[in-house]
Amino acid sequence: MHELSLIQSMIDIIREERVKHGMERIMRVRVVNGALSGAVSDALSFGWECLTQEGELKGVALEIIDQPLRVACGSCGLEFEPEDKQYMPCPSCEEILGHDIISGKELYIEEIEADVLDDKGGAA
Ligand SMILES: [Zn+2]
Repeated sequence: MHELSLIQSMIDIIREERVKHGMERIMRVRVVNGALSGAVSDALSFGWECLTQEGELKGVALEIIDQPLRVACGSCGLEFEPEDKQYMPCPSCEEILGHDIISGKELYIEEIEADVLDDKGGAA
């Protein structure tokens, strides 16, 4: 499953960030998944559950924000959210070709919610 390797690389990033920022306990991870990212949100959730059964991310919630596809019309420049990813007539001028994609291709970690220790004197 494609999403499983995506989740695995996200987990690697989260681990790095955790060390870098001295995060004590991670509570929640928020991910933005664009409509054209190629990843299915349900599969991402499933992959997350599989790969966080044990270890330092056990029990951490994964929140997925579905980012709709948004384009700017190639003819009149109107920005709109097409219902269909293949056929995207502009609601204003009905142009179907040459639109610029504004958002919807992205897949990234938006936020890692965690407790951060200020000093490193805590429990061993
Ligand atoms: Zn248009």
